[in-house]
Amino acid sequence: MNKLIPAIKVKNLNFYYDTQKILEGVSMEIYQSKVTAIIGPSGCGKSTFIKCLNRMCELEGEAHVEGKVEFFNQNIYERRINLNRLRRQVSMVLPKPNLFPLSVYDNVAYGVKIVGWRPKVELDEIIESAIKEADLWDEVKNKLHKSALELSAGQQQRLCIARTLAVKPKILLMDEPCFGLDPIASMKVETLIQSLRLRSELTMVIISHNLQQVARISDFTAFFHTNENRIGQIVEFGTTKKMFSNPIDSRTRDYVFARLP
Ligand code: ADP
Ligand code: MG
Repeated sequence: MNKLIPAIKVKNLNFYYDTQKILEGVSMEIYQSKVTAIIGPSGCGKSTFIKCLNRMCELEGEAHVEGKVEFFNQNIYERRINLNRLRRQVSMVLPKPNLFPLSVYDNVAYGVKIVGWRPKVELDEIIESAIKEADLWDEVKNKLHKSALELSAGQQQRLCIARTLAVKPKILLMDEPCFGLDPIASMKVETLIQSLRLRSELTMVIISHNLQQVARISDFTAFFHTNENRIGQIVEFGTTKKMFSNPIDSRTRDYVFARLP
């Protein structure tokens, strides 16, 4: 394997909503241009953890953070951080497509326009290339000015990914991106992630309960679990190959081996 460069270093992260501790002592690195999967039972803090990586956790409640999250060596919890810029660079795709009641084109243009004005031709190019990157162009090129909400659920999810790609994030966080999709739509999202993995420099973090999918698309896996006080922790981290064939911790073994053929 080539030399691994950490894009994010999480150092001893404790996270609370109000006074309730949700995550404890989480330390891990997210490597540049690699796919890192976060797995673990429901309620162990996976979604909360990835929201800590771009401070979206602060949009959900009275968030309190201890420890550090360094994005290319800068602690994102420092005061002088520009949150809009951070969330463009470390961008999140949610389990359910959250498009605006606008056209396909305007949904993808939305984030790009916030960043700054661009001439129409340039905007057209950015939008076309983002939709192509999201493997959706052939399906929507004749519907660019129709409502995005008329697309199928799977197409909407790939459009959400296109919208994110249009602002050129460095890191793409995906929280169960195939949630609720049928197997065919789910496979299309997976194929898209796989093609981004092979042809781009993008760093990706994906939460998934589908371990066969995780095995196919990720380079590294982190297994999270709650401790005896029901606080989320990272139990084990390693290459996906190692985590799925020869994990060290018995909790990882129990979880992984029960879900793989
Ligand atoms: P997972 O994604 O692994 O299922 P979550 O990160 O969604 O887990 O949740 C971890 C814990 O944090 C759960 O106990 C959940 O109830 C709690 N939690 C999640 N979001 C909030 C919130 N906005 N306010 C308070 N508690 C929350
Ligand atoms: Mg979740």
